[in-house]
Amino acid sequence: RLPDPCIMVIFGASGDLTHRKLIPALYNLAYDGLLPPGFSVVGYARRPYTDEEFRQEMRAAVERFSRRQPIDPDVWETFAQGLFYFAADFHDASAYPKLGELLERIDRDRGTVGNRIYYLATPPDAYETITQLLGENGLSRPNRPGSWVRLIVEKPFGHDLESAIALNEHLLRYFREDQIYRIDHYLGKETVQNILALRFANGIFEPIWNRNYIDHVQITVAETIGIEGRGGYYDRAGALRDMVQNHMLQLLSVVAMEPPIAFEADPVRDEKVKALRAIRPIRPEEVNELTVRGQYGPGFIAGRPVPGYREEPRVAPNSLTETYVALKLFIDNWRWADVPFYLRTGKRLPRRVTEIAIQFKRVPHPLFKGMITAGVEPNWLVIRIQPDEGVSLNIAAKVPGPRIRLRTVTMGFLYGTSFLVPTPDAYERLLLDCMLGDSTLFTRRDETEAAWVPITQILRGWAEAPPPEFPNYDAGTWGPPEAEQFIARDGRRWRRP
Ligand code: NAP
Repeated sequence: RLPDPCIMVIFGASGDLTHRKLIPALYNLAYDGLLPPGFSVVGYARRPYTDEEFRQEMRAAVERFSRRQPIDPDVWETFAQGLFYFAADFHDASAYPKLGELLERIDRDRGTVGNRIYYLATPPDAYETITQLLGENGLSRPNRPGSWVRLIVEKPFGHDLESAIALNEHLLRYFREDQIYRIDHYLGKETVQNILALRFANGIFEPIWNRNYIDHVQITVAETIGIEGRGGYYDRAGALRDMVQNHMLQLLSVVAMEPPIAFEADPVRDEKVKALRAIRPIRPEEVNELTVRGQYGPGFIAGRPVPGYREEPRVAPNSLTETYVALKLFIDNWRWADVPFYLRTGKRLPRRVTEIAIQFKRVPHPLFKGMITAGVEPNWLVIRIQPDEGVSLNIAAKVPGPRIRLRTVTMGFLYGTSFLVPTPDAYERLLLDCMLGDSTLFTRRDETEAAWVPITQILRGWAEAPPPEFPNYDAGTWGPPEAEQFIARDGRRWRRP
Protein backbone atom coordinates (compact mmCIF):
# COMPACT_ATOMS: atom_id res chain seq x y z
CA ARG A 1 0.00 0.00 0.00
CA LEU A 2 1.34 3.45 -0.89
CA PRO A 3 1.08 6.22 1.71
CA ASP A 4 -1.45 9.03 1.18
CA PRO A 5 -0.09 12.00 -0.81
CA CYS A 6 1.61 14.32 1.68
CA ILE A 7 4.12 17.11 2.27
CA MET A 8 7.11 16.67 4.54
CA VAL A 9 8.31 19.94 6.04
CA ILE A 10 11.92 19.51 7.14
CA PHE A 11 12.93 22.06 9.77
CA GLY A 12 16.72 22.26 9.52
CA ALA A 13 16.85 21.41 5.80
CA SER A 14 20.31 22.86 5.27
CA GLY A 15 21.79 20.73 8.06
CA ASP A 16 23.84 17.58 8.27
CA LEU A 17 21.02 15.14 9.01
CA THR A 18 19.00 16.30 6.01
CA HIS A 19 21.99 15.92 3.71
CA ARG A 20 23.30 12.63 4.98
CA LYS A 21 20.14 10.79 5.88
CA LEU A 22 16.75 12.32 5.17
CA ILE A 23 16.95 13.34 1.52
CA PRO A 24 18.96 10.26 0.45
CA ALA A 25 16.38 8.06 2.25
CA LEU A 26 13.48 9.85 0.53
CA TYR A 27 15.20 9.54 -2.84
CA ASN A 28 15.75 5.80 -2.24
CA LEU A 29 12.06 5.43 -1.43
CA ALA A 30 11.26 7.29 -4.66
CA TYR A 31 13.58 4.95 -6.55
CA ASP A 32 11.78 1.94 -5.12
CA GLY A 33 8.40 3.43 -6.09
CA LEU A 34 7.28 3.66 -2.47
CA LEU A 35 6.47 7.38 -2.28
CA PRO A 36 2.91 8.55 -2.87
CA PRO A 37 2.02 10.58 -5.96
CA GLY A 38 2.57 14.32 -5.45
CA PHE A 39 4.92 13.71 -2.50
CA SER A 40 6.61 17.02 -1.68
CA VAL A 41 9.28 18.35 0.65
CA VAL A 42 9.48 21.86 2.02
CA GLY A 43 12.93 22.58 3.43
CA TYR A 44 12.93 25.19 6.18
CA ALA A 45 16.15 26.89 7.38
CA ARG A 46 17.76 30.32 7.37
CA ARG A 47 20.18 29.95 4.49
CA PRO A 48 18.79 31.93 1.54
CA TYR A 49 18.40 29.18 -1.08
CA THR A 50 15.97 29.41 -3.98
CA ASP A 51 13.98 26.25 -4.78
CA GLU A 52 16.42 25.61 -7.61
CA GLU A 53 19.50 26.00 -5.38
CA PHE A 54 17.95 23.73 -2.77
CA ARG A 55 17.34 21.08 -5.45
CA GLN A 56 20.97 21.33 -6.60
CA GLU A 57 22.19 21.02 -3.05
CA MET A 58 19.98 18.00 -2.39
CA ARG A 59 21.06 16.37 -5.63
CA ALA A 60 24.67 16.64 -4.49
CA ALA A 61 23.65 15.08 -1.16
CA VAL A 62 21.97 12.14 -2.93
CA GLU A 63 24.99 11.66 -5.18
CA ARG A 64 27.18 11.50 -2.12
CA PHE A 65 25.10 9.60 0.41
CA SER A 66 22.43 7.51 -1.31
CA ARG A 67 22.99 3.74 -1.53
CA ARG A 68 21.54 3.92 -5.07
CA GLN A 69 24.36 4.96 -7.37
CA PRO A 70 24.55 6.39 -9.91
CA ILE A 71 21.57 8.69 -9.52
CA ASP A 72 18.70 7.80 -11.89
CA PRO A 73 17.94 10.99 -13.89
CA ASP A 74 14.22 10.19 -14.38
CA VAL A 75 13.61 9.30 -10.73
CA TRP A 76 15.55 12.39 -9.67
CA GLU A 77 13.63 14.69 -12.01
CA THR A 78 10.24 13.56 -10.70
CA PHE A 79 11.45 13.67 -7.08
CA ALA A 80 13.08 17.11 -7.48
CA GLN A 81 9.90 18.67 -8.85
CA GLY A 82 8.46 18.15 -5.36
CA LEU A 83 11.32 19.89 -3.52
CA PHE A 84 10.67 23.43 -2.26
CA TYR A 85 12.57 25.73 0.06
CA PHE A 86 11.31 28.20 2.65
CA ALA A 87 13.95 30.56 4.09
CA ALA A 88 13.14 31.87 7.55
CA ASP A 89 14.16 31.82 11.17
CA PHE A 90 12.34 29.26 13.35
CA HIS A 91 11.73 31.96 15.92
CA ASP A 92 10.08 34.37 13.50
CA ALA A 93 6.35 34.12 14.24
CA SER A 94 5.44 35.97 11.05
CA ALA A 95 6.96 33.15 8.95
CA TYR A 96 4.41 30.52 9.94
CA PRO A 97 1.30 31.97 8.23
CA LYS A 98 3.45 32.23 5.09
CA LEU A 99 4.53 28.64 5.52
CA GLY A 100 0.83 27.73 5.81
CA GLU A 101 0.12 29.53 2.52
CA LEU A 102 2.96 27.71 0.78
CA LEU A 103 1.64 24.35 2.01
CA GLU A 104 -1.87 25.19 0.75
CA ARG A 105 -0.45 26.14 -2.63
CA ILE A 106 1.44 22.85 -2.88
CA ASP A 107 -1.77 21.04 -1.85
CA ARG A 108 -3.54 22.66 -4.81
CA ASP A 109 -0.73 22.17 -7.32
CA ARG A 110 0.35 18.66 -6.34
CA GLY A 111 -2.71 17.09 -4.76
CA THR A 112 -1.28 16.57 -1.27
CA VAL A 113 -4.76 17.17 0.28
CA GLY A 114 -3.65 18.70 3.59
CA ASN A 115 -1.53 15.76 4.82
CA ARG A 116 1.65 16.94 6.53
CA ILE A 117 4.69 15.59 8.33
CA TYR A 118 6.80 18.10 10.22
CA TYR A 119 10.33 16.80 10.79
CA LEU A 120 12.33 18.53 13.51
CA ALA A 121 15.90 18.09 12.20
CA THR A 122 17.02 21.07 14.24
CA PRO A 123 19.06 21.83 17.32
CA PRO A 124 16.90 20.55 20.21
CA ASP A 125 16.47 24.01 21.69
CA ALA A 126 14.28 24.88 18.69
CA TYR A 127 11.72 22.07 19.26
CA GLU A 128 9.54 24.06 21.61
CA THR A 129 9.37 27.26 19.56
CA ILE A 130 8.62 25.46 16.32
CA THR A 131 5.86 23.29 17.73
CA GLN A 132 4.31 26.23 19.59
CA LEU A 133 4.29 28.42 16.49
CA LEU A 134 2.88 25.60 14.37
CA GLY A 135 0.16 25.15 16.97
CA GLU A 136 -0.65 28.83 17.33
CA ASN A 137 -0.93 29.19 13.58
CA GLY A 138 -3.37 26.34 13.21
CA LEU A 139 -0.79 24.15 11.47
CA SER A 140 -0.66 21.31 13.99
CA ARG A 141 -4.19 20.07 13.24
CA PRO A 142 -5.68 18.77 10.00
CA ASN A 143 -7.27 21.57 7.99
CA ARG A 144 -9.80 19.37 6.23
CA PRO A 145 -11.77 16.22 6.99
CA GLY A 146 -9.83 13.03 6.49
CA SER A 147 -6.38 14.60 6.35
CA TRP A 148 -3.61 14.04 8.91
CA VAL A 149 -0.74 15.95 10.49
CA ARG A 150 2.26 14.23 12.09
CA LEU A 151 5.39 15.40 13.88
CA ILE A 152 8.75 13.62 13.88
CA VAL A 153 11.08 14.55 16.73
CA GLU A 154 14.79 13.71 16.57
CA LYS A 155 17.04 12.82 19.44
CA PRO A 156 18.11 14.08 21.93
CA PHE A 157 14.72 14.03 23.59
CA GLY A 158 15.47 15.98 26.76
CA HIS A 159 18.68 15.86 28.79
CA ASP A 160 17.22 14.19 31.89
CA LEU A 161 13.89 12.87 33.11
CA GLU A 162 12.57 16.26 34.13
CA SER A 163 13.33 17.96 30.82
CA ALA A 164 11.93 14.98 28.87
CA ILE A 165 8.67 15.23 30.80
CA ALA A 166 8.58 18.99 30.21
CA LEU A 167 9.19 18.51 26.48
CA ASN A 168 6.46 15.88 26.27
CA GLU A 169 4.04 18.16 28.03
CA HIS A 170 4.92 21.00 25.73
CA LEU A 171 4.47 18.92 22.57
CA LEU A 172 1.17 17.56 23.85
CA ARG A 173 -0.22 21.07 24.13
CA TYR A 174 -0.14 21.34 20.35
CA PHE A 175 -0.12 17.74 19.07
CA ARG A 176 -1.89 14.60 20.25
CA GLU A 177 0.27 11.64 21.25
CA ASP A 178 -0.86 9.70 18.17
CA GLN A 179 0.50 12.53 15.99
CA ILE A 180 3.98 12.43 17.58
CA TYR A 181 6.71 10.15 16.19
CA ARG A 182 9.84 10.21 18.40
CA ILE A 183 12.54 8.75 16.23
CA ASP A 184 15.26 6.38 17.36
CA HIS A 185 16.87 5.27 14.16
CA TYR A 186 18.14 2.05 15.75
CA LEU A 187 14.58 0.75 15.61
CA GLY A 188 14.62 1.25 11.84
CA LYS A 189 17.56 -1.11 11.44
CA GLU A 190 16.67 -4.45 9.89
CA THR A 191 18.73 -6.32 12.43
CA VAL A 192 16.91 -4.76 15.34
CA GLN A 193 13.56 -5.73 13.89
CA ASN A 194 15.03 -9.16 13.28
CA ILE A 195 15.43 -9.61 17.04
CA LEU A 196 11.64 -9.68 17.19
CA ALA A 197 11.51 -12.19 14.34
CA LEU A 198 14.20 -14.34 15.94
CA ARG A 199 12.45 -14.39 19.28
CA PHE A 200 8.83 -14.57 18.26
CA ALA A 201 8.80 -16.36 14.90
CA ASN A 202 10.91 -19.32 16.06
CA GLY A 203 9.85 -21.97 18.50
CA ILE A 204 13.29 -22.75 19.88
CA PHE A 205 14.48 -19.51 21.43
CA GLU A 206 11.64 -18.25 23.59
CA PRO A 207 11.52 -21.30 25.92
CA ILE A 208 15.16 -20.72 26.92
CA TRP A 209 15.06 -16.91 26.82
CA ASN A 210 15.08 -16.44 30.57
CA ARG A 211 17.01 -16.63 33.82
CA ASN A 212 16.93 -20.44 33.87
CA TYR A 213 19.17 -20.69 30.81
CA ILE A 214 20.76 -17.29 30.29
CA ASP A 215 23.80 -16.34 32.33
CA HIS A 216 24.04 -12.73 31.23
CA VAL A 217 23.62 -10.36 28.30
CA GLN A 218 26.20 -7.96 26.83
CA ILE A 219 25.21 -5.07 24.62
CA THR A 220 28.07 -3.28 22.89
CA VAL A 221 28.01 -0.16 20.76
CA ALA A 222 31.62 0.52 19.84
CA GLU A 223 32.66 3.36 17.57
CA THR A 224 36.07 4.12 16.10
CA ILE A 225 35.12 7.71 15.35
CA GLY A 226 35.62 10.54 17.78
CA ILE A 227 33.11 13.35 18.02
CA GLU A 228 33.43 14.50 14.41
CA GLY A 229 33.15 18.23 14.98
CA ARG A 230 30.11 17.84 17.27
CA GLY A 231 32.08 18.96 20.33
CA GLY A 232 29.62 21.66 21.32
CA TYR A 233 26.78 19.17 21.60
CA TYR A 234 28.73 16.14 22.80
CA ASP A 235 30.57 17.87 25.61
CA ARG A 236 27.22 18.67 27.21
CA ALA A 237 25.74 15.23 26.48
CA GLY A 238 28.32 12.46 26.98
CA ALA A 239 28.06 8.79 26.10
CA LEU A 240 25.35 7.93 28.62
CA ARG A 241 22.88 10.43 27.19
CA ASP A 242 24.03 10.18 23.58
CA MET A 243 23.92 6.37 23.26
CA VAL A 244 22.57 4.58 26.29
CA GLN A 245 19.38 6.50 27.02
CA ASN A 246 18.04 5.95 23.53
CA HIS A 247 19.69 3.35 21.28
CA MET A 248 21.04 0.95 23.89
CA LEU A 249 17.96 0.93 26.09
CA GLN A 250 15.91 0.35 22.95
CA LEU A 251 18.05 -2.69 22.19
CA LEU A 252 17.71 -3.84 25.77
CA SER A 253 13.94 -3.47 25.74
CA VAL A 254 13.61 -5.48 22.52
CA VAL A 255 15.75 -8.27 23.96
CA ALA A 256 14.03 -8.26 27.35
CA MET A 257 10.37 -7.60 26.51
CA GLU A 258 7.61 -10.16 26.91
CA PRO A 259 5.93 -11.40 23.71
CA PRO A 260 3.44 -8.76 22.57
CA ILE A 261 -0.10 -9.88 21.78
CA ALA A 262 0.11 -8.38 18.27
CA PHE A 263 2.77 -6.81 16.08
CA GLU A 264 1.15 -3.41 16.33
CA ALA A 265 2.23 -0.11 17.78
CA ASP A 266 0.63 -0.22 21.19
CA PRO A 267 1.00 -3.91 22.07
CA VAL A 268 4.70 -3.81 21.14
CA ARG A 269 5.36 -0.60 22.99
CA ASP A 270 3.38 -1.73 26.05
CA GLU A 271 5.79 -4.64 26.47
CA LYS A 272 8.89 -2.52 25.87
CA VAL A 273 7.78 -0.01 28.50
CA LYS A 274 7.16 -2.81 30.99
CA ALA A 275 10.74 -4.05 30.52
CA LEU A 276 12.16 -0.54 30.94
CA ARG A 277 10.08 0.07 34.04
CA ALA A 278 11.39 -3.15 35.56
CA ILE A 279 15.00 -1.92 35.48
CA ARG A 280 16.18 -2.02 39.07
CA PRO A 281 16.55 1.50 40.49
CA ILE A 282 20.12 2.66 40.97
CA ARG A 283 20.87 4.42 44.23
CA PRO A 284 23.52 7.18 44.14
CA GLU A 285 25.84 5.23 46.44
CA GLU A 286 25.71 2.22 44.06
CA VAL A 287 26.73 4.15 40.99
CA ASN A 288 30.46 3.46 41.30
CA GLU A 289 29.78 -0.23 41.63
CA LEU A 290 27.39 -0.38 38.67
CA THR A 291 29.08 1.94 36.18
CA VAL A 292 32.48 2.82 34.75
CA ARG A 293 33.16 6.12 33.04
CA GLY A 294 35.95 6.72 30.58
CA GLN A 295 37.36 9.44 28.39
CA TYR A 296 39.86 8.88 25.61
CA GLY A 297 43.28 10.40 25.43
CA PRO A 298 45.41 10.56 22.27
CA GLY A 299 46.13 7.26 20.54
CA PHE A 300 45.97 5.41 17.25
CA ILE A 301 43.04 4.30 15.13
CA ALA A 302 43.95 1.95 12.27
CA GLY A 303 47.57 3.04 12.65
CA ARG A 304 46.74 6.73 12.36
CA PRO A 305 47.44 9.07 15.29
CA VAL A 306 44.32 10.78 16.66
CA PRO A 307 43.99 13.52 19.27
CA GLY A 308 42.54 13.01 22.72
CA TYR A 309 38.99 14.08 23.52
CA ARG A 310 40.12 17.20 25.37
CA GLU A 311 42.02 18.35 22.30
CA GLU A 312 38.93 18.15 20.07
CA PRO A 313 37.41 21.45 18.86
CA ARG A 314 34.79 22.97 21.16
CA VAL A 315 35.60 20.63 24.05
CA ALA A 316 36.63 22.14 27.36
CA PRO A 317 40.35 21.43 28.02
CA ASN A 318 39.46 20.03 31.47
CA SER A 319 36.24 18.37 30.35
CA LEU A 320 34.77 15.68 32.60
CA THR A 321 32.42 14.37 29.92
CA GLU A 322 32.50 10.60 29.46
CA THR A 323 33.18 9.21 25.99
CA TYR A 324 32.93 5.65 27.30
CA VAL A 325 30.53 4.09 29.71
CA ALA A 326 30.01 0.55 30.95
CA LEU A 327 27.10 -0.34 33.17
CA LYS A 328 25.34 -3.24 34.75
CA LEU A 329 21.57 -3.26 34.92
CA PHE A 330 19.11 -5.75 36.33
CA ILE A 331 15.54 -6.23 35.21
CA ASP A 332 13.46 -7.15 38.19
CA ASN A 333 10.80 -9.47 36.84
CA TRP A 334 10.17 -13.22 36.68
CA ARG A 335 11.98 -13.68 33.40
CA TRP A 336 15.17 -11.80 34.22
CA ALA A 337 15.61 -11.77 38.01
CA ASP A 338 19.36 -11.55 38.79
CA VAL A 339 20.52 -11.82 35.16
CA PRO A 340 22.99 -8.97 34.61
CA PHE A 341 22.71 -6.89 31.47
CA TYR A 342 26.14 -5.38 30.80
CA LEU A 343 26.07 -2.40 28.47
CA ARG A 344 29.12 -0.62 27.12
CA THR A 345 29.65 2.05 24.54
CA GLY A 346 32.57 4.21 23.63
CA LYS A 347 34.18 6.41 21.08
CA ARG A 348 37.63 5.78 19.63
CA LEU A 349 37.49 2.06 20.35
CA PRO A 350 39.43 -0.30 18.06
CA ARG A 351 36.43 -1.52 16.03
CA ARG A 352 33.08 -0.21 14.90
CA VAL A 353 30.60 -2.79 16.04
CA THR A 354 27.14 -2.98 17.55
CA GLU A 355 26.05 -6.33 18.90
CA ILE A 356 23.93 -8.05 21.46
CA ALA A 357 25.56 -11.13 22.90
CA ILE A 358 23.63 -13.56 25.05
CA GLN A 359 25.63 -16.01 27.06
CA PHE A 360 23.88 -19.20 28.09
CA LYS A 361 24.71 -21.04 31.28
CA ARG A 362 27.33 -23.74 31.44
CA VAL A 363 26.23 -27.35 31.20
CA PRO A 364 25.22 -28.67 34.62
CA HIS A 365 27.54 -31.68 34.50
CA PRO A 366 30.95 -31.28 32.84
CA LEU A 367 31.10 -34.62 31.03
CA PHE A 368 34.14 -33.65 28.97
CA LYS A 369 36.19 -32.25 31.84
CA GLY A 370 39.89 -32.54 31.14
CA MET A 371 39.28 -33.18 27.46
CA ILE A 372 38.17 -29.73 26.68
CA THR A 373 40.53 -27.69 24.61
CA ALA A 374 41.19 -24.35 26.24
CA GLY A 375 38.87 -21.64 25.03
CA VAL A 376 35.62 -23.62 24.85
CA GLU A 377 33.06 -21.27 26.24
CA PRO A 378 29.43 -21.60 27.19
CA ASN A 379 27.12 -20.96 24.22
CA TRP A 380 26.92 -17.44 22.92
CA LEU A 381 24.09 -16.22 20.73
CA VAL A 382 25.32 -13.08 19.05
CA ILE A 383 23.05 -10.71 17.19
CA ARG A 384 25.23 -8.43 15.10
CA ILE A 385 23.47 -5.14 14.44
CA GLN A 386 26.32 -3.62 12.40
CA PRO A 387 28.48 -4.14 10.40
CA ASP A 388 28.25 -7.68 8.88
CA GLU A 389 24.64 -7.91 10.04
CA GLY A 390 23.66 -11.39 11.12
CA VAL A 391 23.16 -13.87 13.90
CA SER A 392 25.59 -16.49 15.13
CA LEU A 393 25.56 -19.23 17.70
CA ASN A 394 28.76 -20.62 19.17
CA ILE A 395 28.64 -24.28 20.02
CA ALA A 396 31.18 -26.77 21.27
CA ALA A 397 32.01 -29.48 18.74
CA LYS A 398 34.28 -32.46 18.65
CA VAL A 399 37.50 -31.96 16.76
CA PRO A 400 37.85 -34.83 14.21
CA GLY A 401 40.26 -37.52 15.37
CA PRO A 402 40.58 -40.53 17.62
CA ARG A 403 40.53 -38.58 20.89
CA ILE A 404 37.78 -36.47 22.39
CA ARG A 405 38.85 -32.90 21.93
CA LEU A 406 36.43 -30.03 21.80
CA ARG A 407 36.51 -26.69 20.13
CA THR A 408 34.06 -23.86 19.71
CA VAL A 409 32.55 -23.56 16.23
CA THR A 410 30.11 -21.03 14.91
CA MET A 411 26.77 -21.50 13.20
CA GLY A 412 25.70 -18.35 11.55
CA PHE A 413 23.50 -16.46 9.21
CA LEU A 414 24.66 -13.30 7.47
CA TYR A 415 22.20 -10.92 5.86
CA GLY A 416 24.56 -10.24 2.99
CA THR A 417 24.81 -13.88 1.90
CA SER A 418 21.33 -15.09 2.85
CA PHE A 419 19.30 -12.37 1.21
CA LEU A 420 21.60 -10.93 -1.47
CA VAL A 421 19.85 -7.59 -1.33
CA PRO A 422 21.31 -4.45 0.20
CA THR A 423 19.78 -3.58 3.56
CA PRO A 424 17.76 -0.40 3.37
CA ASP A 425 18.81 2.49 5.56
CA ALA A 426 16.96 2.79 8.86
CA TYR A 427 15.60 6.20 7.89
CA GLU A 428 13.92 4.77 4.79
CA ARG A 429 11.87 2.39 6.86
CA LEU A 430 11.02 4.97 9.50
CA LEU A 431 10.04 7.77 7.12
CA LEU A 432 7.82 5.37 5.22
CA ASP A 433 6.23 4.07 8.42
CA CYS A 434 5.45 7.61 9.51
CA MET A 435 3.79 8.34 6.14
CA LEU A 436 1.75 5.17 6.61
CA GLY A 437 0.78 6.18 10.15
CA ASP A 438 2.51 3.18 11.75
CA SER A 439 4.25 4.16 14.99
CA THR A 440 5.37 0.66 16.06
CA LEU A 441 9.04 1.57 15.54
CA PHE A 442 8.82 4.98 17.22
CA THR A 443 9.03 5.62 20.95
CA ARG A 444 5.92 6.50 22.87
CA ARG A 445 5.84 9.13 25.58
CA ASP A 446 5.94 6.68 28.49
CA GLU A 447 8.79 4.77 26.87
CA THR A 448 10.99 7.84 26.52
CA GLU A 449 10.37 8.78 30.11
CA ALA A 450 10.90 5.24 31.41
CA ALA A 451 14.26 5.18 29.63
CA TRP A 452 15.30 8.42 31.30
CA VAL A 453 14.65 7.08 34.80
CA PRO A 454 17.77 4.88 35.23
CA ILE A 455 19.88 7.33 33.23
CA THR A 456 18.88 10.20 35.50
CA GLN A 457 19.64 8.07 38.55
CA ILE A 458 23.14 7.41 37.21
CA LEU A 459 23.67 11.07 36.35
CA ARG A 460 22.72 12.02 39.91
CA GLY A 461 25.09 9.45 41.35
CA TRP A 462 27.90 10.68 39.13
CA ALA A 463 27.27 14.25 40.16
CA GLU A 464 27.78 13.21 43.79
CA ALA A 465 30.77 10.91 43.28
CA PRO A 466 34.28 12.34 42.81
CA PRO A 467 35.00 12.46 39.05
CA PRO A 468 37.48 9.92 37.67
CA GLU A 469 40.96 10.92 36.49
CA PHE A 470 40.42 11.66 32.82
CA PRO A 471 41.62 10.74 30.25
CA ASN A 472 41.72 7.10 31.34
CA TYR A 473 41.95 5.18 28.09
CA ASP A 474 43.97 5.63 24.92
CA ALA A 475 42.18 6.08 21.64
CA GLY A 476 42.24 2.74 19.86
CA THR A 477 41.89 0.58 22.99
CA TRP A 478 38.80 -1.14 24.43
CA GLY A 479 38.17 1.50 27.10
CA PRO A 480 39.54 2.05 30.60
CA PRO A 481 41.15 -0.88 32.45
CA GLU A 482 38.52 -0.39 35.18
CA ALA A 483 35.92 -1.68 32.72
CA GLU A 484 37.73 -5.04 32.57
CA GLN A 485 37.93 -5.25 36.35
CA PHE A 486 34.28 -4.21 36.59
CA ILE A 487 33.05 -7.31 34.77
CA ALA A 488 35.86 -9.58 36.04
CA ARG A 489 34.59 -9.00 39.60
CA ASP A 490 31.52 -10.98 38.56
CA GLY A 491 33.67 -13.78 37.12
CA ARG A 492 32.88 -12.76 33.54
CA ARG A 493 34.63 -10.95 30.73
CA TRP A 494 33.74 -8.74 27.84
CA ARG A 495 33.50 -10.38 24.48
CA ARG A 496 36.03 -9.18 21.92
CA PRO A 497 33.77 -8.73 18.90
P1 NAP B 1 22.93 20.87 11.95
O1 NAP B 1 23.79 20.36 10.86
O2 NAP B 1 23.51 21.82 12.93
O3 NAP B 1 21.65 21.53 11.27
C1 NAP B 1 20.77 22.39 11.96
C2 NAP B 1 19.78 22.97 10.97
O4 NAP B 1 18.90 23.84 11.65
C3 NAP B 1 20.42 23.75 9.85
O5 NAP B 1 19.66 23.49 8.69
C4 NAP B 1 20.22 25.19 10.28
O6 NAP B 1 20.10 25.95 9.11
C5 NAP B 1 18.89 25.10 10.99
N1 NAP B 1 18.70 26.15 11.98
C6 NAP B 1 19.34 26.27 13.17
N2 NAP B 1 18.85 27.33 13.85
C7 NAP B 1 17.89 27.87 13.07
C8 NAP B 1 17.00 28.97 13.22
N3 NAP B 1 17.02 29.73 14.31
N4 NAP B 1 16.13 29.22 12.24
C9 NAP B 1 16.11 28.45 11.12
N5 NAP B 1 16.92 27.40 10.92
C10 NAP B 1 17.80 27.13 11.87
O7 NAP B 1 22.31 19.67 12.82
P2 NAP B 1 22.09 18.16 12.36
O8 NAP B 1 23.33 17.41 12.59
O9 NAP B 1 21.45 18.12 11.04
O10 NAP B 1 21.08 17.66 13.50
C11 NAP B 1 19.72 18.04 13.55
C12 NAP B 1 19.03 17.26 14.65
O11 NAP B 1 19.11 15.89 14.38
C13 NAP B 1 19.68 17.44 16.03
O12 NAP B 1 18.68 17.40 17.00
C14 NAP B 1 20.56 16.24 16.16
O13 NAP B 1 20.78 15.86 17.49
C15 NAP B 1 19.72 15.20 15.45
N6 NAP B 1 20.51 14.10 14.92
C16 NAP B 1 21.46 14.30 13.98
C17 NAP B 1 22.16 13.24 13.47
C18 NAP B 1 23.19 13.44 12.40
O14 NAP B 1 23.70 12.42 11.91
N7 NAP B 1 23.52 14.63 11.99
C19 NAP B 1 21.91 11.95 13.92
C20 NAP B 1 20.94 11.76 14.89
C21 NAP B 1 20.24 12.84 15.38
P3 NAP B 1 20.68 27.42 8.82
O15 NAP B 1 22.01 27.49 9.46
O16 NAP B 1 20.66 27.50 7.34
O17 NAP B 1 19.66 28.29 9.41
